[in-house]
Amino acid sequence: MLNDEQEVETGITEGGQSGPFRDILAKNHARRGKAPTHFVDLAQKQRIEVMRELGLPKFRASQCATHYFDHLNADVSTFSDLPAAHRADIQEQLFPTLIEPLLEQRADEGTTVKTLWKLFDGSRIESVLMRYPTRTTLCISSQVGCGMGCPFCATGKLGLTRNMSTGEILEQVRVAALQMRNGDVAGGPGRLSNVVFMGMGEPMGNYKAVMHAIRQISALPPYGFGISARNITVSTVGVVPGIRKLAAEHIPVRLAVSLHAPNDALRDELVPMNKRFNTTAVLDAAHDYYLASKRRVSIEYALMRGINDQAEHARELARRLNHYGDDWVHVNPIPLNPIEGSRWTASKPEDEQQFLDILHRAGITATLRDTRGSDIDGACGQLAAKALETMHNKEQQ
Ligand code: SF4
Repeated sequence: MLNDEQEVETGITEGGQSGPFRDILAKNHARRGKAPTHFVDLAQKQRIEVMRELGLPKFRASQCATHYFDHLNADVSTFSDLPAAHRADIQEQLFPTLIEPLLEQRADEGTTVKTLWKLFDGSRIESVLMRYPTRTTLCISSQVGCGMGCPFCATGKLGLTRNMSTGEILEQVRVAALQMRNGDVAGGPGRLSNVVFMGMGEPMGNYKAVMHAIRQISALPPYGFGISARNITVSTVGVVPGIRKLAAEHIPVRLAVSLHAPNDALRDELVPMNKRFNTTAVLDAAHDYYLASKRRVSIEYALMRGINDQAEHARELARRLNHYGDDWVHVNPIPLNPIEGSRWTASKPEDEQQFLDILHRAGITATLRDTRGSDIDGACGQLAAKALETMHNKEQQ
């Protein structure tokens, strides 16, 4: 049996400051302390305990859960079924303000909303809400920055500042669900139907808080937002022990793996984590996840001009994937949104098409990922990176 400390050694970090994977998972890690405790950070029995300390019966905890998850309300002063004299205390102890909008950008005729959030310690993260005819997807962040150091990625340039709490993760979901319910997104009132962990950060680097969040996103009200686990996607750069641990949870979330290269020589360059868990280890784990969950795994592949987007790369990718059998995977080539001044640029449209055609001919399902929001700021982390830069410049003046 592993104890907690040994579990950190597997590469899944839960916020500790040491362990052999810290070098990769938490490069530039400047720990800034934890966010204030929020209602959703606690188990139901801990919520009841807080109520008891406030001199309130346990059913008050369930009332709060209904307000939060069902009414999507975190303003305790309006919880009219709670005793007025206790509302301020409950607000302070259980519903601190964890995220505040700093900047909002709308695109795609108002159906894409990208928000830059400020956290309690001044950290910045982002989320993107994308409305489609049949679904609405929210892309959320799970860490401030990212410690994976992929050289082509804006978030990677920020390094990892800290893990986010379950409360900080879920507040992104609550606010988006409320915006949809209130009709604040073009298209009138609707429902948030999908959540993807593809914003800032590596979800496996903050496993415990992410899992706690997933359970509450998928639980039915009043204990969760009632978004089916099948509509939740967890995206990883390939932290193999995390993938295996997720499979053992038996929650049917979709797994997305950011592969970006079909072999180790190239992937070592593009995704430093490959030196820990190589393409064989990652694909083995991804295929095992498919077998355990019966859900097709998504392979994310950012197409970079002349680097990983040529016919030989597509053929090698097809061969590596088909090695495991048919129909277990869906490839999402993503047109890279380049960071200014970087040597990594977007593929030519004809190369994108050729890449797709080769995969299709090899019998692999593949669709060019929708680049929603690309006219507002592009790839993950860029909005945060830009705002941080602007602020830094202002401080210098
Ligand atoms: S590509 Fe993903 S894993 Fe790599 S640095 Fe960017 S956010 Fe992190």
